[in-house]
Amino acid sequence: MPFALSAAIAFIYGTVVGSFLNVCIWRMPRDESIVRPPSHCPNCDHKLSGWELVPLFSFLLLGRKCRKCGEPISWRYFGVELLTGVFFVALLARYGWQLEFFSLALFGSALIAAFFIDLEHWIIPDQLTIFGIIIGVAHDIIGVAIGQSKLMKIPLPFTDATLPMLESIFGLVICGAIFYAIAVLGELAFKKEAMGGGDIKLAAAIGANLPIGLALLSFFVAVAVGSVIGIAWMITMRVMRKDAKSYVPFGPMMVAGVIVVAFFGPQLIDAYMAYLRSGGLTIK
Ligand SMILES: [Zn+2]
Repeated sequence: MPFALSAAIAFIYGTVVGSFLNVCIWRMPRDESIVRPPSHCPNCDHKLSGWELVPLFSFLLLGRKCRKCGEPISWRYFGVELLTGVFFVALLARYGWQLEFFSLALFGSALIAAFFIDLEHWIIPDQLTIFGIIIGVAHDIIGVAIGQSKLMKIPLPFTDATLPMLESIFGLVICGAIFYAIAVLGELAFKKEAMGGGDIKLAAAIGANLPIGLALLSFFVAVAVGSVIGIAWMITMRVMRKDAKSYVPFGPMMVAGVIVVAFFGPQLIDAYMAYLRSGGLTIK
């Protein structure tokens, strides 16, 4: 199949998934079911008909507003559909129609929903993180079953025995434990919640889906991105003399970190290794 055709199929799949993600982004933080009732205008309850549900096109054809009551529709609907479509094409270009494409497309979709929900509501729904963990573990089980990946062998102390383990289980335990430790230490140090339960579960889901090295790297990228954005945010608020909340949710930074390492992780590691080899850290 020529790549242009594959890419078109991936793009259409992506926009349809993005359309569903918009439903999740609106309903999950409001504790509404994501399957019932069918899509409707949140303002006037007008039930959307088939042609009003076509990804990207409906938004443009409707002129960004509800056909019945004229309530404006957020740009986020168009943005999430386009973003998910582009994301699926980028994954396809990187992995082809492999197992990785399908598992990362599903996990990445959960991350896109988590990004927008955390940004607005400061929560990461359990449905998304648990779904992510299931995808990571399922990817490994299928990978082992078709002979694409192997079980890890964790050496047991004081014996010659090893414990066979799925890489995803190992990753989720390590990453979840690191974030849990940060949460406990942060609470001791600052006497308030430093890391939410949602962040810990998101870290576990990332650990279940990325090789452990890339998962840890994604957390460093998240902290780096978070510091830059956090400082910029505080300066902006200081300049505008606004008494804004100083809290910037960490979940969206973690999602940004995953996207960076999923596409550029190996290059980042190579660049860092080259930097070390060039004597970057030695004191002369
Ligand atoms: Zn309406």
